[in-house]
Formats: sequence, C-alpha cells, structure tokens
Amino acid sequence: MTVNRNLWRRNFSDRSVPRYPCPRCGRGSLVWDEDRYVKLEPKHSERKHDNEDWEPDWVQYRFVGFSKCNNSTCGEIVAIAGLGYVDREYVYGDGVGLDEYEWQTMVSPTSISPAPNLFPLSPKIPEQIRGEIKLAFKVYWGDVRAATIRLRTSLEMVLDDRGVPRTTDKTDKKGKGMLPLEQRIAKFAESAGDDESAEAMHALRVVGNIGTHGETVRDEDFFDILDVYEHALLEIYEQPSAQRKAMRARLIALKDK
Ligand SMILES: [Zn+2]
Repeated sequence: MTVNRNLWRRNFSDRSVPRYPCPRCGRGSLVWDEDRYVKLEPKHSERKHDNEDWEPDWVQYRFVGFSKCNNSTCGEIVAIAGLGYVDREYVYGDGVGLDEYEWQTMVSPTSISPAPNLFPLSPKIPEQIRGEIKLAFKVYWGDVRAATIRLRTSLEMVLDDRGVPRTTDKTDKKGKGMLPLEQRIAKFAESAGDDESAEAMHALRVVGNIGTHGETVRDEDFFDILDVYEHALLEIYEQPSAQRKAMRARLIALKDK
C-alpha cells in the first residue's frame, strides 16, 4: 500500500480541487464549495498590470474556501486557504511552437483545517500517538520539514509504547546515556516476531534520518517516509504478517486432520 501522492499535490486548478477524505468520519469525501470560494489580488500584483510586458501569469492571489463532507450524517466542513497564481493550461500542443492554451487560476493551500489524514490511521494506534501523527499531517501543508520532525517524535512514542527503552545501562560521564533513535529501532527489530515485521522496523530508520540535520526535506522524501511508516504501523498495530502466519498454521492443522 502506498500513499496517493497525486491526491496531496501542492498545486492544482481552482476548477478541480481534490476530494480529500473526510478527517472526521473517514468515510465521506470533501467536496469543494464553489459559491464560498474567494480569491483576492493584492495591490502589489495589481500595480504590475500597467507594465507593458505584463502577462496574466504575473498575477498573484490569496484565497480561502471550504470543502464539505458528502456523508450526510457527518457534513464536516474544512477550511482551505493559501496562495494562488495564473498559469497556462495547454489544450493542444506540446508546450513549444503553435500551441493553444487557456489561462487558469492555480491554488496552493498552505493550511487545511481540520486537516485530512494523509493515510488512514488504525484505531488500534494509541490516541496520543495518533494525535502526534495528525499534527504531522496538519503541518505538511505549511512546512514539510516540521511534518517530518513530528513523524519522528511519533515514532519515538511508538517505541515507548512497545516497551523499547530510551536509555542504555552503559554509563557515560553524566550517568545513564540516551539511546539514539536508530539503536532503539534496531532493538525493536530484533524483538519483532517475524522477518517481515523486522524489515518494516528497519525501514523506519528513514523516518528518523531525514530532516533532522536542518537540511531541506523534499516532498518526495516525505512521501517515501509516509509509505514506510504506514506499512510499519500496520505491521505493529494490525499485525497482518502475524495474522497471515496464524492463518497458515490453521490451514496446515486442517490438512493434517
Ligand atoms: Zn465526514
């Protein structure tokens, strides 16, 4: 299972706002309310229209709007806000030569509240950990590096929940030493019951490594992390591998009867 990166893209036409999954009921989809959508052009952008070289793609917007859950028993409303601009949409051609295009308004949300889950969260994940992961999903829109750090924090909490110690018995000058995340993951992988879970745990190191040294985090790295993390969380809290193993054992027992 991988996270749908196209659904979470940062730029899209204001005529095709994605239908995100509802953050409240998880069953409905959020439908964009065109009647309550407002975009405004700031003065500094308006002034440029007088320039003789002006083209529509010089325009900048600020926008706000709402999407409503189409599950009638839920009806959650989500506020979406951010920046807008104008771009060419090619209706014919390849972007060079004699092309036909139309101007379209593009929007890039910097905030969605309440934020949709970038992947579904199992109810078996403890509340506190789910809360931290939801914060990562929320800040993704404004600051992807902050989102990565939130995921790392949630991973430390998963390891706490699974009883992996934060400290080591080996004492340094200050007394008990803190275990780096990577070593905690290694300990956890050792204790995992089967190869598949252990592999998922080891892959989690990418969650810990990216974005912690102040470097910029690219969206594609963030989504790589999400893919790994979603899989590992399923292994930890839903244990499909363990269930598969139990199922195999039951089948073998049946055959032997
Ligand atoms: Zn809903």
